[in-house]
Amino acid sequence: MTKPLENRIAVVTGASRGIGYAIAKQLAVNGSHVVAVARTVGGLEDLDDEITQAGGSATLVPVDLLEHDAIDQLGAAIHERWGKLDILIGNAGILGMLTPLGHLEPKVWDEVMAVNVTANWRLIRSLDPLLQRSDAARAVFVSSGAAHSNHAYWGAYSISKAALEAMVKTYAAETASTPVRANLLNPGPIRTAMRARAMPGEDPQSLPRPDELAAAMIEICLPSCIQSGAIFDFENGKLRLR
Ligand code: NDP
Repeated sequence: MTKPLENRIAVVTGASRGIGYAIAKQLAVNGSHVVAVARTVGGLEDLDDEITQAGGSATLVPVDLLEHDAIDQLGAAIHERWGKLDILIGNAGILGMLTPLGHLEPKVWDEVMAVNVTANWRLIRSLDPLLQRSDAARAVFVSSGAAHSNHAYWGAYSISKAALEAMVKTYAAETASTPVRANLLNPGPIRTAMRARAMPGEDPQSLPRPDELAAAMIEICLPSCIQSGAIFDFENGKLRLR
C-alpha cells in the first residue's frame, strides 16, 4: 500500500529526543525519508534504529544549530542529493532560564534567541529554494502557548516564540503564491525533558506523550493541508486551527 508521504524528503530539527524525535519517527512511518538534525549522536542513532525497524529510512545530521554555516551546508547537501525538500519541521528549541528579565544573563538571552529564532530563520534562508522545488512543501515550526501568555520569568522563551510566530507568518505571506505552506504548532504541555525542567513539580504521567502529538500533527505535513500562516493547537489529542 502506498504511504501518504512516500518519496517525500523531510528535515526535522531537534530530532534526538522529545517532540522532534516522535515527529521524525511518525514522518518516516508515513513514508518520508527523514533528515534528522540535533547535536546528540546517541539520540539520533536510537531514532535511526527505530525508523529502520519500522521499515523507514533516515539520514543523520549531528550538528549544532548555532553553527549557521552548518545550516547552509545542509541546504547544499540536500540540493545535491535530492534537488528538493518537501517537509521542514523547525522544532529544536531551548528554554533558557526562568528568571526575571533584569536577572537574565546576556549569554542565556543570546542563546535562546539564536536557537529559537535565528536558527529557524537560517533554515528558511537555506532551505526555501529547495522547498520551492517541491510540488507541495509543508513547513511547520514548533511554537508555544508562552508566545502569548507572557508569564513572569518566562521572558526570553516567550519573546523568542512570539518572534518565531511573527517570522513564520511573514514567511507564509511571502510564499502565498508558491507551493509552500508554512504553519505554527503549539503543542501544549507534552511529556519531555524540557517540560520536566520547566515544571519540576508536575507529574509527567499526567501529560500527553510526544508520539500522541506526532500522530495528530502529521495532517499539517500532508499535501492536502491548505492553510498557511496559521497556528494549530494540540488539545485533547487533536489539532485545532486557532
Ligand atoms: P527537548 O529539550 O526534549 O528537546 C529539544 C530538542 O532540540 C533536542 O532534540 C535538542 O537536541 C534540540 N536542540 C536544542 N538545542 C539545539 C542546538 N543548539 N542544535 C541542535 N539541536 C538543538 O524539548 P521538547 O521536545 O519538549 O521541545 C521541542 C519543541 O517544542 C521546542 O521548540 C519547545 O519550545 C516546544 N514546546 C514544547 C513543549 C513541551 O511541553 N514539551 C510545550 C510547548 C512548546 P540536542 O540537545 O541533541 O542538540
